[in-house]
Amino acid sequence: MSRVRVLVLNSALGPLDYRVPHGLAVEPGSIVVAPLGPRQLLGVVWEPDRLPSENEVGDNRLRNILAVADAPPVGEPLRRLIEWTSDYYLAPPASVMRMTLASTSALEGTRMVVEYRATGATPPRLTPQRSQALERIGTRQGLIRELAAVADVSEAVIRGLVKSGAIEAVEVDVDSPYPVPDPEHAPPELSPEQREAADTLVAGVAAQAFEPTLLDGVTGSGKTEVYFEAVAEAVRAGKQTLVLLPEIALTEPFLKRFHDRFGCEPVAWHSGLRSTQRRRAWRAIASGEARVVVGARSALFLPYANLGLIVVDEAHETSFKQEDGVHYHARDVAVMRGRFEGCPVILASATPAIETRQQVVLGRYKEVRLPARFGGAELPEIEAIDLLAEPPERGRWLAPRLIQALEDRIEKREQSLLFLNRRGYAPLTLCRTCGHRFQCPNCTAWMVEHRLTRRLACHHCGHIEPVPRVCPECQAEDTLVPCGPGVERIADEVAARWPEARVAIVTSDTIWSPAKAAEFVGRMEAGDIDIVVGTQLVTKGYHFPNLTLVGVVDADLGLEGGDLRAAERTFQQIRQVSGRAGRGAKPGQVYVQTHSPKAGVMQALVTGDAEAFYDAETESRREAGAPPFGRYAAIIVSSEEQAAAAEIAGLIGRSAPHEEGMHVYGPAPAPLAMLRGRHRYRLLVHARRALDVQDVIREWLGNLVWPAKVRVTVDVDPYSF
Ligand code: ADP
Ligand code: ZN
Repeated sequence: MSRVRVLVLNSALGPLDYRVPHGLAVEPGSIVVAPLGPRQLLGVVWEPDRLPSENEVGDNRLRNILAVADAPPVGEPLRRLIEWTSDYYLAPPASVMRMTLASTSALEGTRMVVEYRATGATPPRLTPQRSQALERIGTRQGLIRELAAVADVSEAVIRGLVKSGAIEAVEVDVDSPYPVPDPEHAPPELSPEQREAADTLVAGVAAQAFEPTLLDGVTGSGKTEVYFEAVAEAVRAGKQTLVLLPEIALTEPFLKRFHDRFGCEPVAWHSGLRSTQRRRAWRAIASGEARVVVGARSALFLPYANLGLIVVDEAHETSFKQEDGVHYHARDVAVMRGRFEGCPVILASATPAIETRQQVVLGRYKEVRLPARFGGAELPEIEAIDLLAEPPERGRWLAPRLIQALEDRIEKREQSLLFLNRRGYAPLTLCRTCGHRFQCPNCTAWMVEHRLTRRLACHHCGHIEPVPRVCPECQAEDTLVPCGPGVERIADEVAARWPEARVAIVTSDTIWSPAKAAEFVGRMEAGDIDIVVGTQLVTKGYHFPNLTLVGVVDADLGLEGGDLRAAERTFQQIRQVSGRAGRGAKPGQVYVQTHSPKAGVMQALVTGDAEAFYDAETESRREAGAPPFGRYAAIIVSSEEQAAAAEIAGLIGRSAPHEEGMHVYGPAPAPLAMLRGRHRYRLLVHARRALDVQDVIREWLGNLVWPAKVRVTVDVDPYSF
C-alpha cells in the first residue's frame, strides 16, 4: 500500500492524502488527477514532511489517485518556491500552484487540437450576426469558444458559419517544436564598457550559481544588448532563460529585438495567449524545449525543466507587484526562484528601486553599471516649467514654452511625446447647474469621461455608462462639464492648435494587444506620427531615434496622496519618460510642468543628480523605519455589508497582539473605501525588519473567525497606501 500527499488545486484546502493504486508510479512533483467529492482535480504530489495533511484518515478510508499526467514532475526548486511564496505572502499554497498548472494540457494526451479560422468565403445566408462575427474574427484563429468571445456572438453562430463553409477547421500540433535561438546569429559590437558589463554577466551564467546582479544603466545605455549576451551564454549551455517584462505591451518590441539578435522569436507567455498557444508553450517549457521565455509576472511559476538565468527588465516597475489573488512582488519572487534553482538573476533598470539599491549596499546583490548612453548619445536636458509663473491659457494645459518647443519640432519634422498618466478625456465630470459629480456606483471613485468611446468609465472596477445628455440629478440638459485633463483632452488641445499634426493617443485603451503595440511602433518608425500623447505605457522600452522632445504635462500628479513611494515613483517615471528623448543622433529636450519646482524631486530631475536624490530619499526612509529599513503589511477587511466589514475590522484591531517593535494603525476606511461593491477597512502593520511579521499575523488571524460574507486579505510589502 502506498500513501501519498497531494496538493490539490483547491485554494480552500491544504494537501490531502491519497492511495496510489497498483500500476501507477508517482514521485514528489508528479502531476496527478485526484478525486475530491464528486469532482476530479489536478494536483501535485508533495513530500509529506513539508506540508501537514488535511485528512489524517486511516489507510482503509483513503481514495485512489485516478491518473498521472503525461508531463514531467514539478521540480523540487519550484515546489520550494511555491511553499516560500505561500508562507511569505500568506496565501494558500494551492493558489500559488494554480500559476504553475496554468494550463491543464498536462492532462490531455492528445497532441492535435482543432482550431478554426475564416476561409474568406461569404456564407449563403448573411445575417447581421454572421457578418458581425466574420468582421470581428478577421484573420484570427482559435477554438470555437474563443472566436465566439472575440465576435461577441454565441457559439451556435460560429458553428453555423463552419457548416456554411465560411469558417474552416485547422489541425494544430501542440507539440510542434519551437526554433532554437542562435547565440551567434547577429552579435552586436559592444563598446568597451558594455563588453566589461557583459563579461561579468556571462561569467555569472557560466558559474550557474545563485547570484542577483543589478544592471544599473541609464536609458539608452544598451542594457538589453548587454543582458542578451548572458542569454546567449545560457542558450549555449543548453539552459533555459526567463525574461520578465512589466507589461504585455512591451512584448512585441521585445520579440522583434530578440529576433534581430538571435534569428528567431522566444516563447511568449502572457494573458493574451489563446488556449492552444498556452498549451504549446507550457509543454515546451516543461520539457525544456522552450529555450528562452519572455513573459509577464505569472511566468515565474511555470515548471521550467532546467532554468539557468532569470532577467527582470525594468525591475523598478510597480506593475511587477500583483494586486489581486496572491499579492506578490514578481521582482522579489524572481530572486527567490533564482535562489532555489541555483541560477543567476539579473535586475535591469535605469532607475532602480530603493529596496534594490539597498541590497547592493548591503553586499547581497552585485552591481554592474553602464553610466553613459551608447554611441555617444547625450542624456536629454530636463527643464522645469513653473506653472504659476508661466501658466497655460485658460482651459488649456500646455504652457507657452512647451508649445513653442512642440511648434519647433513640427517644423523640423521631429517627433514629440506628451506624457500624462491619466486615461480618458477628463478625470471628473460635473453638472454646471447643480454641481452633481458622476461617481461609480461600485467604488469610491469618479467616473472618467472617455470621448473616444463616448462613455463614462470607472478605472477601478470597469463599470461603464453612456455619457448622459441630461443630468440625472437636476434634469438640466447639456450642462455636463469636464474637469481637468486626461490624454484625450491633451490630444484635443494639440489638434486644435496644429490641425495638420498627426497625433496618436497611447494608453491601455488604444494599445490593448501586442499587435496594436506593433502597429504603433510601425507608424512611429515610418514617421507617420508627429506627436504622441500617452500614459505610463509609453515611458519605457521604446526606442525612437527621431523623438527629440518630451513634455510632462503634470509632474505633480504622482505626488498627490500619502504614498510612501510617491517621490521615488515620480522620479523614476519622469526619468524613464525623459529617456525616450534624444536616443539617436539628435539631442533630446524635456520640459516638466509643475506647480512646485522647488520640491526635492523636481530639483533632482533638473540637475540630473540621481545619487543625491536617492541618498536623501533613503535617509528619510531610514528615519521613518519605512522599507527597506522596516516593513509594512496591510490587512484589508471587505464585505458587501458595511456593518459586517466594520465589525470584523474592529475585532481584528482589538485582538492585535502586543509585539515589541510592531505597531498597528487602524482600522480605518481603506484608501478606496469601496471597491467593486465591497466596503473596505484597512489595518496597517508596521514592524521592524527583524520581526517575523508573517508569523505574528498568521497567529493573530488564525485565532479569529468571521462570517463568509467578510473577506480578509493580507498584503505583505504593500504598494498602494
Ligand atoms: P536601454 O535598455 O539601456 O535603454 P537599449 O538596449 O534599448 O538600451 O539600447 C539603446 C539603443 O542602442 C538600441 O537601439 C540598441 O539596439 C542600440 N545599441 C546599444 N548597444 C549597441 C551596440 N553595442 N551596437 C549597436 N547598437 C547598440
Ligand atoms: Zn468602480
